[in-house]
Amino acid sequence: MSELKGRIHSFDSFGTVDGPGIRFIVFMQGCPLKCKFCHNRDTWDFDKGEEYTVEEIVKKLKRVKPYIDASSLGGGITVSGGEPLGQAEFVLELFKECKKQGFHTCLDTAGSYKLNDTIKQLLEYTDLVLLDIKHIDSNKCKDLTGMDNTNNKNFAKYLSQIHKKVWIRQVLTPGITDDEETLKATQKFVLELGDIVEKIEILPYHDMGKFKWIEIDGKYPLEGVRCATQEDVKKAQTILHL
Ligand code: SF4
Repeated sequence: MSELKGRIHSFDSFGTVDGPGIRFIVFMQGCPLKCKFCHNRDTWDFDKGEEYTVEEIVKKLKRVKPYIDASSLGGGITVSGGEPLGQAEFVLELFKECKKQGFHTCLDTAGSYKLNDTIKQLLEYTDLVLLDIKHIDSNKCKDLTGMDNTNNKNFAKYLSQIHKKVWIRQVLTPGITDDEETLKATQKFVLELGDIVEKIEILPYHDMGKFKWIEIDGKYPLEGVRCATQEDVKKAQTILHL
């Protein structure tokens, strides 16, 4: 097995929301974005976290295999972050091994890196992509995350080109991503991706990660922005005809 090491923030052995069935979730350390609504502010720094080899992670994954196998919706491994594409070479080796051992692989990403051969190869070993759309308007995306959405859109279009299954995710933030114009523009973009899109998930913005911002930066960028309610989510779903 590969001797490469990945920097890992944490693991969750029984994830149920990041992909189908019961998931073993690997949260990679490091993210090039600075989403104002981020609830994992502590995952950003690429030098933090702990190093693991592919073998060490697969060992952990195998321990929960009976639960994954028993999962009616078909479970597997999900690599999230942070931004997993920041350590694409390592995730590629990890997914190669997971596929060899028969696990369903899911990549939870914002597609925030420019496509390259490693990322393209990684997608060959990925069964499902969970793709965040931060803001469909490039300038507003830059204001919200520190980066425009060029890489994100190119990544989505590439998924369409290679017919890779995807769940689209959008954090609904009141006053930022919940207006009709934004939602309709997002819908238009997603429809153009074609039948690779299995699901569109509207995730309500919450401020449960605020304490991490206060600890690290001493302030919270979305101070004063209210959390999204289930009613907000329903309204957005109606606009999107979900
Ligand atoms: S991509 Fe995810 S981890 Fe990175 S800043 Fe945005 S919400 Fe946080």
